[in-house]
Amino acid sequence: MLSADQIIQYQASPTLLQDRIILITGAGDGIGKAAAMACAAAGAKVILAGRTVAKLEQVYDDILAAQGHEPVIYPIDLEGATEDDYNELALNIDNQFGRLDGLLLNAGILGQRTPLSNYRQDVWDRVIKVNVTAQFQMTQALMPVLEKSADASVIFTSSGVGKVGRAFWGAYAVSKFAIEGMVQTWAAELEDLGSVRLNAIDPGATATTMRAQAFPAENPNDLKTAAEIMPTYLYLLGPDSTGVNGQSIKAQNR
Ligand code: NDP
Repeated sequence: MLSADQIIQYQASPTLLQDRIILITGAGDGIGKAAAMACAAAGAKVILAGRTVAKLEQVYDDILAAQGHEPVIYPIDLEGATEDDYNELALNIDNQFGRLDGLLLNAGILGQRTPLSNYRQDVWDRVIKVNVTAQFQMTQALMPVLEKSADASVIFTSSGVGKVGRAFWGAYAVSKFAIEGMVQTWAAELEDLGSVRLNAIDPGATATTMRAQAFPAENPNDLKTAAEIMPTYLYLLGPDSTGVNGQSIKAQNR
């Protein structure tokens, strides 16, 4: 495995992900959109999953304009999706491609920035559903198609507040701690079993809508852009990280 600094500076070749089928959740905006563009630029066929079709269509157009493989749009709302929806997704991927080489579980919501004593139950339920339960359900349903790939990589999305508890991050922080635990548990179960590896990325402070929601007074120009943190994503999705399993990796030093 490369060192933390080498991963942040990783340079992907234009054919790194050639012909890999990669599903990205929350692909319409922020980090997910940048990941979709970066994967397509490295030769992948990207399945753009998300809840706002107009945003996914824009990413679809942007990928085609950049000469990427024609992507697939897959509308799905992680808040309302059921086991049946995830099984249908898996069946569609199996029928169309016969395998899945990469799964980037990126979509997430922030919830309230308020003390837990005042945290609303309905917001808590939504954050845990989208940020934890849906991540588990989708991965579980897609595991059989991931196992059909010769080198499948699953990436969960963590956060700094998922490793050290900080005041006023509420259900979001709890959900990211859960992601760290899910990655360690699942990776331990998969270790030495076959071709699927599973890791977490903490993007670090990145200029997106969610970051602006969490820190409204911050100047986004002081932050890394989503495109700038892509080396870590590409490293973990491509063959150079084969064998890396159960790690939680920062995509930048901040
Ligand atoms: P954004 O808010 O910019 O993007 C989030 C994406 O998730 C959007 O595409 C959004 O869709 C999608 N999404 C939200 N809810 C649902 C849902 N119910 N069903 C389907 N898709 C949904 O956030 P970021 O790009 O900043 O965040 C991406 C990930 O990175 C998150 O997991 C976040 O927790 C994590 N992260 C981000 C950091 C940062 O500084 N930006 C730092 C640490 C972690 P839509 O556009 O339709 O709303």
